[in-house]
Amino acid sequence: MYEPTQKNEAAFLIEGLTEEEKDSAVIRAPCDTDVYCVTCNRTEYVKKGEIIPVCSGKVTEILD
Ligand SMILES: [Zn+2]
Repeated sequence: MYEPTQKNEAAFLIEGLTEEEKDSAVIRAPCDTDVYCVTCNRTEYVKKGEIIPVCSGKVTEILD
């Protein structure tokens, strides 16, 4: 369980989380795919099972 301040920080400090916290806080790519940040109009390639990266404080969107 998170306090609001901790949850907010979690989006920016993924590297500092435990494995258990990562599983609850992030999404993993269902397949090799590109992800897209709507805030800064940037795409990034991720492989299946990798953590969907956070950009501009939000989780990037998976592109079909
Ligand atoms: Zn961004």
